Amino acid sequence: MKILVPVKRVLDYAIKARAKSDGSGVDLAGLKMSLNPFDEIALEAALRLKEAGLASEVICVSCGETPVQEGLRTALALGADRALWVEAPGELEPLTVAKLLRAVVVQEQVDLVICGKQAIDDDAGQTGQMLAALLDWSQATQAAAIHCEGSRLEVVRETDGGTETLQLNTPAVITTDLRLNEPRYATLPNIMKARKKPIDQLTAGALGVTITARLQTLRVAEPPVRAPGIRVNSVEQLLDLLKNQAKVVS
Ligand code: AMP
Repeated sequence: MKILVPVKRVLDYAIKARAKSDGSGVDLAGLKMSLNPFDEIALEAALRLKEAGLASEVICVSCGETPVQEGLRTALALGADRALWVEAPGELEPLTVAKLLRAVVVQEQVDLVICGKQAIDDDAGQTGQMLAALLDWSQATQAAAIHCEGSRLEVVRETDGGTETLQLNTPAVITTDLRLNEPRYATLPNIMKARKKPIDQLTAGALGVTITARLQTLRVAEPPVRAPGIRVNSVEQLLDLLKNQAKVVS
């Protein structure tokens, strides 16, 4: 079984995002970028399937401009067998990424795609589902556990009321939730080795995908600054404030 893990390079989760002064987007200049955390979880799941003898190859792929190769280097250092860079300009919409991934899936004859349930930069949460639809493959989203037996997969999903266990057959798309696993760290020797590994380059044109923007970002704004809290001196004062000043926010 060949597994494809799409990975996106995003603003590190620990860094506070700031809007550009003209409101045209998020200011990423000089800030730390990392692999999308859900994609690290997806890669870990794929690597564990390979280590259990259930997968033959784990291929990672990233779509975007030159810097996305850094994310691929991290994926190689973590243990991916191969890395594919789909060179594509500008900010890519989920549908565009899904179309590019579909072309890669067909070209690489992949059996299973494991991707993040969402990229923490745009929080779209759409790519996996769109990819499954474009391929007409089974999909299981927000996986909290994956069991695999040959071509049969069992995926446990966490729902508000408990868990839901789905059974599906490959080929399939699975998207990962936070509690699926705890990703490993890349060791320094593996990071060094990954620097020298080749990254295969593809282009949107060569994959037969035309990039057309369907969405226009009108404005990106930071949330309003919250008024600072106040310290009360007594329970009576707290009750008085709650009764006379607190507002119901609906
Ligand atoms: P999204 O639909 O943007 O929230 O992204 C969901 C998942 O799709 C991510 O966790 C990645 O696995 C994958 N993905 C999104 N954008 C890219 C990209 N540019 N390159 C590779 N994979 C991506």
